[in-house]
Amino acid sequence: MGKVYLTGAGPGCIDLLTVKALRLVKAADVIIYDRLANPDILKEAKDGCEFVYVGKEDSNHTLPQEEINEVIYQNALKYESVVRLKGGDPFVFGRGGEEGIYLRERGIKFEFIPGITSAIAVPAYAGIPVTHRGVTVSFRVVTGHESKDKSHSQIPWENYKTDDTIVFLMGLHRLRHITKKLIEIGKPKTYLIAVISRGTTKDEKTVVGTLETIWDLAKELPTPALIVVGEVVKLREQLSWFEEELGDKA
Ligand code: SAH
Repeated sequence: MGKVYLTGAGPGCIDLLTVKALRLVKAADVIIYDRLANPDILKEAKDGCEFVYVGKEDSNHTLPQEEINEVIYQNALKYESVVRLKGGDPFVFGRGGEEGIYLRERGIKFEFIPGITSAIAVPAYAGIPVTHRGVTVSFRVVTGHESKDKSHSQIPWENYKTDDTIVFLMGLHRLRHITKKLIEIGKPKTYLIAVISRGTTKDEKTVVGTLETIWDLAKELPTPALIVVGEVVKLREQLSWFEEELGDKA
């Protein structure tokens, strides 16, 4: 029986993989990976390593989570070293906890290898610090994806009346709804919001607008994309760096 490494792949750029994750990838007998894990990481695997793709679209799961759990379990019965590679961090909307519980119930050993989450790294690459002295003292990471069942909204909108920075993951397709809700709870229509697409990669693109204008500006951006709301977005004017470097190279 093998061990499963529930491993964060980082936000996109391969250099943002942790040293530990890279060491485990190089030693893995099988790597079970998601759509958001940079596929270049697989090139680091040893000869003969098996690859299993269990990709997920944002809201349109290619494989249901229960099946993914079972795939991981079956591989742990077969191989010594199983790397379960997930975009960003396994616990930040990564369902890593569910996978861990499934394995624990079946007596399979595991480790968690935290990854650099897109929730922080992608804003950073866009020149937006999630906290900044004198601007905001806290930030929240929220799912933009709500249950299709309209009767129970999972997002407690009333809690977001504060000046916290809010980072929405999985929210691009709900951008119009999100901005409408934020205005409804009392945020000014001029409140700043950024959408960052394909962050930390060579295709990174950031669009900045207000709660009123962003929809039109950002609706064509490709996924994955995340949304940052708050006055910290203004700091991009002084801190933007990565997209400038990309521009210099182009
Ligand atoms: N566990 C992951 C998040 C999984 S949810 C993490 O810690 O990063 C998937 C969402 O993450 C996407 O819908 C998108 O909102 C965001 N995301 C992941 N990678 C991204 C990237 N490179 N650029 C922009 N958003 C990204």
